[in-house]
Amino acid sequence: MCVFCKIISGEIPSKKAYEDDSVLAIYDINPQAPVHIVFMPKQHILTSADGINEENCEIIGKIFVAIAKVAKELGLKDGYRIINNCGAAAGQTVAHIHFHLLAGKDGMSEHMI
Ligand code: 5GP
Ligand code: ZN
Repeated sequence: MCVFCKIISGEIPSKKAYEDDSVLAIYDINPQAPVHIVFMPKQHILTSADGINEENCEIIGKIFVAIAKVAKELGLKDGYRIINNCGAAAGQTVAHIHFHLLAGKDGMSEHMI
């Protein structure tokens, strides 16, 4: 089981920022910005390039709805970044599709993630 599936199952503890039937968001263990939350589907999907298809693509919209909800709750009025690293060469270290929400002063810098 991948590290995010272990977090989803509760085998590895995490600080949750959001959860519903199909989406989980956790505070990143190694934050790169004052606000750094990782959103993932509960279903194990590898990457944006390998695993997303016509049948399961609705989950991406659900993740973006969840991001907007959390951003509103946290009062991120000055904007934020949503980052998806697709593939190891692009910096994806966990092979379970996820989207980083980054915000705060450092979250707006050019070099991150
Ligand atoms: P990636 O580099 O794959 O785009 O992002 C994976 C992210 O997951 C990294 O920012 C890393 O810090 C975070 N991460 C990896 N393992 C854990 C963990 O066990 N708990 C939490 N909260 N975050 C993790
Ligand atoms: Zn997984």
